[in-house]
Amino acid sequence: MNNTDTLQSKETRGFQSEVKQLLHLMIHSLYSNKEIFLRELISNASDAADKLRFKALSNAALYENDGDLRVRLSMNKETGTLTIEDNGIGMTRDEVIDNLGTIAKSGTADFFKQLSEDQTKDRQLIGQFGVGFYSAFIVADKVSVSTRAAGAKKLDAVQWESAGEGDYTIEGIEKEGRGTSITLHLREDNKEFFDDWRVKEVIKKYSDHIGIPIEIWVQEHDGEGNETEQGKWEKINKAQALWTRSKLDISDEEYQEFYKHLSHDYTDSLLWSHNRVEGKNDYISLLYIPSKAPWDMFNRDHKHGLKLYVQRVFIMDDASQLMPNYLRFVRGLIDSNDLPLNVSREILQDNKVTQILRNACTKRVLTMLERLANNDAQKYHAFWKEFGLVLKEGPAEDFSNRAKIMNLLRFASTQTDSNEQTVALADYVSRMKEEQDKIFYLTVDTYQAAKNSPHLEQFKTKGIEVILMYERIDEWFMGHLTEFDGKKFQAITKADLDLSKFEDNNEKEKRGETQRAFESVIERTKAYLGDRVKDVRITFKLSDTPAVVVTDEFEMGTQMAKLLAAAGQQEVEVKYILEFNPEHALVKQMADEADNEVFGRWAEMLLGQAMLAERGTMKDPSPFLTAINRLLTKV
Ligand code: ADP
Repeated sequence: MNNTDTLQSKETRGFQSEVKQLLHLMIHSLYSNKEIFLRELISNASDAADKLRFKALSNAALYENDGDLRVRLSMNKETGTLTIEDNGIGMTRDEVIDNLGTIAKSGTADFFKQLSEDQTKDRQLIGQFGVGFYSAFIVADKVSVSTRAAGAKKLDAVQWESAGEGDYTIEGIEKEGRGTSITLHLREDNKEFFDDWRVKEVIKKYSDHIGIPIEIWVQEHDGEGNETEQGKWEKINKAQALWTRSKLDISDEEYQEFYKHLSHDYTDSLLWSHNRVEGKNDYISLLYIPSKAPWDMFNRDHKHGLKLYVQRVFIMDDASQLMPNYLRFVRGLIDSNDLPLNVSREILQDNKVTQILRNACTKRVLTMLERLANNDAQKYHAFWKEFGLVLKEGPAEDFSNRAKIMNLLRFASTQTDSNEQTVALADYVSRMKEEQDKIFYLTVDTYQAAKNSPHLEQFKTKGIEVILMYERIDEWFMGHLTEFDGKKFQAITKADLDLSKFEDNNEKEKRGETQRAFESVIERTKAYLGDRVKDVRITFKLSDTPAVVVTDEFEMGTQMAKLLAAAGQQEVEVKYILEFNPEHALVKQMADEADNEVFGRWAEMLLGQAMLAERGTMKDPSPFLTAINRLLTKV
């Protein structure tokens, strides 16, 4: 802060490199929709008014005797400028440097790396990123910002100026009014924004929902139609907070524009739910499901939560207490009449009202999704593709809504023969065999590996559907699901898999015989492998594969062990059970081998290939390779 009565001198500073990149990309990819700069700047002005109102709750002097918050636009053909002025919170010099010279979000540099020269894609990505203030440079070749923070001295105002290339200047100025005034020097080809009607049209289209008045200076005309010296400020928008209006009076377009203002998203939302609750609890909620996942949804410091208002006054952004983590993609707001105006994040943390609001909003979102799933499978699929992975965190996080969440899950399965996740658990259950009392699933690294897994062979033969899972979270996620509709989940790579229900008596009898015939083979294999395996036995679930390995019911599975290793934890040695397919030619050949040394090579080779199929890699491949080479030499 300036402690003397002189102005701070002019200084030139460079933009952070990400800003330069954003400016460049934005100007090129958003030019076809350039009018959005008005929406972005008005949205910022409205946020600035919200912030002032909040701060003034505890310090009314910040209003400086001017409590009528508004945004004003004026166009000047002579100077070729358009000015957007607000009397909101304003900015200090440090804030100007932080806000208008850098992009604070972490992961931004990575984000820009994703951008290609493909403009249609860039356009979408840039939109997700949120262009905000910098959108001014889509239409202007010079932007000048003067601003004074509420409560600061008149001499502590700041002027920021830039042509949107490498750098900007900043200097101290004297400014009478509080707030921010942004002057755009419009490029030659943007003359349309000097016309009242054009500006009004854009404001109506994008900013009608803004809660404070947006005014435009209209010059009066004399009898002959010439401009006079006189003019007046004319209010363009409804200037009533959208969520306080009746649902029936709000068009879909207005909901969408409000969503964009609220979320800084560029694309329309997928759906929303707007509710007013009166009685014991008194609040309004407006909840949106975006159509695209934000670029930083899986970043550790991704902000989530709703905007919180208390009695129409904006209190905070990202009130994460109002939404569970697995619904962190939900945007929107709550306006509560029950919380105190001085509510802080700490108070929200363990407050009864917060709990009620959070539970109600969670239910509302889940119900909204349930309806979508029932009424529009295609749209629901679009949702699932974007957010399914986040929703899968739900069963672990939210026990009380587990049943509801389970209905929302979608999977790939052997039934659909596609990696698209479209199968609901209810679909699966409806297709279960008469004798079937379990939901069978398989988790591996990729869809391709799942589809071709040897563990599926008998399921294919018997026509039993298996859920195929191939996302990293799946093993952990399945650990939190125990049953659905009274049916337990069964991993088909676990030793307790029992398909005997699906066999007829004839088959059972034959299997008993085979079992007995193989007893000595099992003993010989155990003697050879020793404690390298937990157990050896035969299985009837395979057809084309000679052997597989499985894990005990309570033993850690392969996927989980891989997950832990990838997370940097000490690697857990998984103890496998080796299972032979007694019908397979190679196994039969091994069974017929009298020479113990050759028998050992067979056992080594079959264990090796089963491990390779299960894990994709092998710690020490040399015994396996030696065994194969020796066997082949004999052939
Ligand atoms: P975003 O609004 O998404 O944070 P912007 O680039 O639009 O990103 O703005 C960056 C920051 O600059 C805002 O978060 C806000 O702190 C500040 N800012 C922008 N416009 C104004 C304004 N009219 N009044 C006060 N602060 C503003």
